[in-house]
Amino acid sequence: MDVLIVGAGIGGPTLAYWLLRAGHQVTIVERAPQLRRGGYVVDFWGAGFDVAERMGIVPDLRDRGYTFTQARSVDGAGRRVASVRPATILGDITRYVTIGRSDLAAAIDDALDGAAELILDDTVRALLDEGSRVRVTFETRPARDFDLVVGADGLHSAVRRLVFGPDERFERYLGMVIAAFEVPGYRPRDESIAIMHADVGFQALRVCLRNDVTLFLLSVRHEGAVPFDDREAQQDLLRRALAGGGWETPAILDAMPRAETFYFDRVSQIRMPSWTRGRVALVGDAAACPSFLAGQGSALAMVESYTLAAELSRCTDHVAAFAEYERRLAPLVRSKQDAATGLGLAFAPKNRWQLFLRNGGMRLMALPKVGDMVMGRSFRDKVELPPFMAA
Ligand SMILES: Cc1cc2nc3c(=O)[nH]c(=O)nc-3n(C[C@H](O)[C@H](O)[C@H](O)COP(=O)(O)OP(=O)(O)OC[C@H]3O[C@@H](n4cnc5c(N)ncnc54)[C@H](O)[C@@H]3O)c2cc1C
Repeated sequence: MDVLIVGAGIGGPTLAYWLLRAGHQVTIVERAPQLRRGGYVVDFWGAGFDVAERMGIVPDLRDRGYTFTQARSVDGAGRRVASVRPATILGDITRYVTIGRSDLAAAIDDALDGAAELILDDTVRALLDEGSRVRVTFETRPARDFDLVVGADGLHSAVRRLVFGPDERFERYLGMVIAAFEVPGYRPRDESIAIMHADVGFQALRVCLRNDVTLFLLSVRHEGAVPFDDREAQQDLLRRALAGGGWETPAILDAMPRAETFYFDRVSQIRMPSWTRGRVALVGDAAACPSFLAGQGSALAMVESYTLAAELSRCTDHVAAFAEYERRLAPLVRSKQDAATGLGLAFAPKNRWQLFLRNGGMRLMALPKVGDMVMGRSFRDKVELPPFMAA
């Protein structure tokens, strides 16, 4: 089959990899003029790690990734509130890596070895499902026909809008915005420690990356309109939210305009009754974004892509494959989404009471049995990856 994948993030190239192995022809169209760099780091484990293993990219992920030994929360004066080791929550940390989202994307893209046609700096403007083919109108290129189209174009998916309906029908805003930016030469550095400070309305987190770069992640409570495509307005919103904050927040805000990369978005989930329609399917955040609160969106995107490709390799036609894809994954995805919605207070407490609960919760999580009971179970993936039939 001739398959068009829209979006070259995490899910798109993973799907391309497996479709190519099944003998299909794959074209990826990516809106950005080049594959993105920078952004933020993701913790990567669970069933997504299993998919990466099957793709043979784990050694590459380890080379590009980081091993953080501790997540430490501090108060306004920089005193330790709690420290949690990844092993306390995840158990088996040999199957876990922290990696730049763009490095994960690059590792997957390298595994494609140029076998997929990659169209950069373009997107889809219209999709017409004609029953036996999908007629695709691009923004700048001539129209083409494909057997299947898969939207892997993230939280604000154009494919979802074009085929399934407006964002408002599926997007659930969680009352928070997230910003991530990288600053060179910031001091102090705490190598191998993710260090964070929360107060009412926000959390600021910093991690040390290679080449003397520090990554900051700010999660901020916000109701009302969220500025889009306006960096000044976005940074003003962050300044207002962190004004008068303790720990290093004044220095972080001072450093923000020097950032080499700046990512800002609303924190939302995508909840849809179905991820497929006719000859069009969705994977990753486009289909079922769990939000960054879940800490598993990349892994889920890879599991969804693998599963969709595996079902296409096993089933008699795309109709059966799409149905199996949804049947197999919908319960897992829904459970991750449900678990994530309760975690807002950890990333941006609404009030003093929530701050108190967050700090108490972090202290409890440092205790081995409790960490596993409270968080560990929600992090383990109860899903069996279907077998894959290579061409
Ligand atoms: C701050 C933060 C922290 C996170 N931490 C974690 C974590 O610890 N662990 C984890 O597993 N996940 C984490 N996530 C979630 C994870 O990054 C996403 O779930 C994951 O990237 C989803 O992959 P995707 O391929 O579906 O979408 P994306 O990675 O968003 O990729 C979508 C691609 O589509 C392109 N695109 C968009 N629109 C169009 C269009 N119209 N036409 C063509 N191309 C288009 C984009 O440019 C992009 O390349 C985090 C997210 C955030 C924001």
